[in-house]
Order: sequence, then structure tokens, then C-alpha cells
Amino acid sequence: MERQAHDAIVVGGGVTGTAVARDLALRGVDVLLLEREDWGAGASACEAALETFPIRAETEAEIARLAAEVTVLHATAPHLMERRTMVFLALPEDEAALERIDAALGLLDRLRSPELFRPRLRLSGLEARRLEPGLSPEVAAAVAVEDWALDAQRLAWLNVLDATRAGARAFNHCRVEAVLAGAGTAGGVRYRTSDGRRVEVAARVIVNATGPWVREVAATAGIELRPRLIKHLEVVYDRRVSAFGLAARAVDGRWVALAPRGAISVLGATESETYGPPEALEITTDDLDDLCRALERVLPGAGEARAIRARTAAFPSAAPWGVPARLIAPRLVIRDHGPEGASGLVSVMGGSLPTYRADAEVAADVICARLGVRAPSTTARRPLPGGAGDAPPAEELAREHGLTALAAARLLRRHGCEAPQVLEDARRGRLVCRCEAVTEAELVHATRHEQVRTLGDASRRVGLAMGACAGAACLERAAAVMAQELGWSAAQRFQAWRDHVAAVWRARAPVLGRWGWAQEEVAYGARRGWPGGLRP
Ligand SMILES: Cc1cc2nc3c(=O)[nH]c(=O)nc-3n(C[C@H](O)[C@H](O)[C@H](O)COP(=O)(O)OP(=O)(O)OC[C@H]3O[C@@H](n4cnc5c(N)ncnc54)[C@H](O)[C@@H]3O)c2cc1C
Repeated sequence: MERQAHDAIVVGGGVTGTAVARDLALRGVDVLLLEREDWGAGASACEAALETFPIRAETEAEIARLAAEVTVLHATAPHLMERRTMVFLALPEDEAALERIDAALGLLDRLRSPELFRPRLRLSGLEARRLEPGLSPEVAAAVAVEDWALDAQRLAWLNVLDATRAGARAFNHCRVEAVLAGAGTAGGVRYRTSDGRRVEVAARVIVNATGPWVREVAATAGIELRPRLIKHLEVVYDRRVSAFGLAARAVDGRWVALAPRGAISVLGATESETYGPPEALEITTDDLDDLCRALERVLPGAGEARAIRARTAAFPSAAPWGVPARLIAPRLVIRDHGPEGASGLVSVMGGSLPTYRADAEVAADVICARLGVRAPSTTARRPLPGGAGDAPPAEELAREHGLTALAAARLLRRHGCEAPQVLEDARRGRLVCRCEAVTEAELVHATRHEQVRTLGDASRRVGLAMGACAGAACLERAAAVMAQELGWSAAQRFQAWRDHVAAVWRARAPVLGRWGWAQEEVAYGARRGWPGGLRP
């Protein structure tokens, strides 16, 4: 067994853990960051992200913090941000709810930067139908508001990248099996690497940022945590179903939204209580119907759209018993377990995506106080990788490197001003994934420099197989490109493809309609039949 020592170990590589590790590393703390699967593979994998407006029971202070952090995101990672318009739609019976959301958006208007956001706009039903002709004739009123989307998995990776540039060590596919605790102190962790080695590492502080797994990891140190787990579910469609984001009320009164992001649309989210293991959440027909019925009230033709996958995950909340899940706003909770007999162990949970950086700063302040580090946080001003300089215009990049305009635009979205460095490889413009316009050069770069070890890692890092074909047209070629980089044999390459198809199957099977099944049959029949062990 190997042994090492650090100032701090952060367990969990979602947006929270990666941002805490980055903040600490930038203050000069010697950090080790460990993730059992891949960066952003947990609840941070939600695709609807961001939600830059208040739709739950947010306080005025929380709305102000949300507005401030979206401005920080713009300043530090402008390349990740994608502008969109969200239209809240009301049938006659929803008009009181629309008034409430309008009041919250009015407060947001006063707090948001006027350079980034245009103020909200009230619309009649007729005006809303002019924007989106597919809307129901029953839509009586609407409010349009500017919103921003961002790729949360890429965000998690950029935090890892910046942390490592500041001296942190960060390993994905390393599962922490136990927090090593005794005599009232947590002094390290034992983790298992992807090749099966066991490593023990000592540290003065251990940060448990494992999202819905926070309870399991704390339990290994003898600490009992009992957060509520709120299950979110979203459905991804193969294209932009509408040019605008459309928000409608579900049967329980919460707002659900169909939001465009890149070439796809995401409908979400269900919000319900869950009690089982976070890795075994089910996508039920009732969950899917709950979302689709809400959308079809305002957009009757929505049922014709082709869903390509659904995604579900849970997040922990300290909300008290009795508060319905739909009203629970994400709120950061930091628990120092010293008084409970595990001095040195700190759990960080429940934060929201748009305010992830500020949440991490608060957590890093607590950890630095324990370590005696006085350096202040710099993350509110320091750009994330790719956000530091002027990126070349997409047309210029496309012309210079022989790319399509779409491939150049997507590359800039992911890498910002560092995009030209990604194109150093001679294969440059050849597309490996046409839906998401991923070039072979970008995949090679991700394998060499972005800790991509599986096809799933490549999906998270550069969007491979995340588009309309869901991998049918690109996975084999991508496996061949990665095999060359990682030295896979032909058998390993085939296994990597099968593993990936099996892994994503749980998210695909519940939503495949007639055309989806037809595509699956053609794609797999053209190979050697169905990958073994798949169960819808
Ligand atoms: C469908 C859906 C939609 C959402 N929409 C929004 C939205 O629009 N706006 C918004 O603000 N929020 C949204 N959220 C919530 C938001 O995504 C999360 O609150 C946030 O991403 C949580 O990040 P996290 O880092 O705390 O947790 P996670 O992303 O879950 O990260 C925890 C990590 O810990 C790792 N881990 C667990 N156990 C171990 C171990 N033993 N060893 C090592 N690593 C371990 C996991 O693999 C995981 O990667 C949504 C969530 C979902 C699921």
C-alpha cells in the first residue's frame, strides 16, 4: 500500500469539490482531489444548467447572490456561457403564479448587471404565439426573461485544470473507500485506483464534497449525516424543439422548462424525494409523463419531439421535514465534524450550480481557518482556463485550420482562447462526432491533456456522442482514435465501446420512441448484435 501526505484532501469531483480544490490550491494549500468516476459525473451532469433566475422559495439575499455570481461567471468563463431567452407561459388558471414569478424576476432585474441582461418583458398570449407559433391558443399571458446556459461538466473540468496548474494533484477514477479516523481525528483517506491499487493518504483536513454520497463517505468515519435527497430528472431531445426556452407549470404547481442548449433541448426537472442509493435512481414512466404533460399543456405538439436520453441524479438538502421538494432551493451547508468526534473532517453539500464558486469560497475560508492559511480567495476575479484572453473569431479559426464553422464555434465554446492550442495535432479538422462537431484533434487533445480514459469521459469533456445520433455514428471511430493514444488492443477497443453503450443504456431505454428503437436496431444490427447484459 502506498502512503503520501497533503494539507487537504477533497473527496468528490463535482462542481463543488473541484471548485473547493481550485480555491485552496490558488491560496497555496497542498491539495489532493479524488473522484471515483469522472469530473462532473454526479449531479453536476445535469444538462439544463444554468437556472439563472429564482423559481423556488429563494430569499432576497439569495436572489442578490445569484445575480452577482452570474456576473462573475461571465467575467471568468465567458466562453462557456450561452445566451438564451426563457418564456414563462400561463394558461388562465396559472395567472396568479405568473404574477409571483414576475415579481421575483422584477427583483432580479434590479440586481442583475444591465450590460449582461435585458429586463424582463410581459407578453400577451397573442404576442407569445408570435414568438412560438406552436403554443396552445389557451396561453393567456407570458413573461420573457434572459437566461444563460453553461456546460456544467466542462465547468467542473476547468476547475480541475486550474487547480492542477496551481499545484494541486487531481485523480479521476479513484474511489475513496474510507476516511481514516481514530482518537477523535480524521487523518487521511484510503482510496482505490482504477487499476486496483490501494493508496493511503494523510492530510490535516478532509473535505467530503460527494454530493448525494455525502452520507456514505461520512459514515466511514463513524459520522451520521441525514440529509434529505432530492431527485431531479430531465429529458433531452435531439434538436431545438423551440428557439426559446419555454417554462410551464406542472401539476404540483412547480415550473418546468424546455430549454435549448447547443443543438439539443432539455426538459426538466422533476423534483421528488428519494431514499435509495444515489447510483441506482430509476427513471420511471410517471416521472417522464409528469414532465411531458406539463409541457404539452402549453405546447401541444411537444409529444412529437424525439427524446434521446433522460438523466437523473439526486442532491442533498438540509431542508426540514415537511417542506415539499418542489419548494426546496439549493442551499450550501458546511458541517465541521470536530464536535462529533472526527476533527479534521468537513462535509460540504447542497450548493447550487450558478453560485458554486461563491459556495466554494465560503467552504475554503472555513478550511483555511483550520489550516492557519490567511491568503484570501482569488476566484472571483481569476479567469478559468480559456477565459483569460481574446479568442480568435470562429471564421478565422475555421479558415486557418480547415474546420467547419460549427466545429470552430464548438471548439471555442469549450476551450475559449486556448482553442488554437487544441488544433496542434496534424489530423486537425477531421470530424469524429458530427452531431456535436468534435474533431479528432480535440479528442486526441482531451486524451493527452484532459484525463480522458473512457468514452464516457470523452462525452463529459468534449461532448462526444451527446447529440442526435447518441453515438450510433461516432463511438467506434472515437474508440479507434482513443485506442491509438492509450495503446488499447482491438479487443480493449471493442470492450470500451460495449462498456459505454451499456453504461448509457439506462438513460436511453426509458425514452426511446418508435424512431429511436428503429435507429438502435439498425446501429447494433450492423455490428454483432446487442451488447450483452442490456436490460431496459
Ligand atoms: C437533473 C438535474 C437538474 C439540475 N438542474 C439544476 C439547475 O438548473 N440549476 C442548479 O443550480 N442546479 C441544478 N441541479 C443541481 C446541481 O447540479 C447540483 O446541486 C450540483 O451540481 C451539485 O454538485 P456537487 O459537486 O455538490 O455534487 P455532485 O456533482 O454529485 O458531485 C459529487 C461527486 O462525488 C463523487 N463521489 C461520490 N462518492 C465518492 C467517493 N467515495 N470517492 C470519490 N468520489 C466520490 C461522485 O462521483 C460525484 O462526481 C440539477 C441537478 C440535477 C440532477
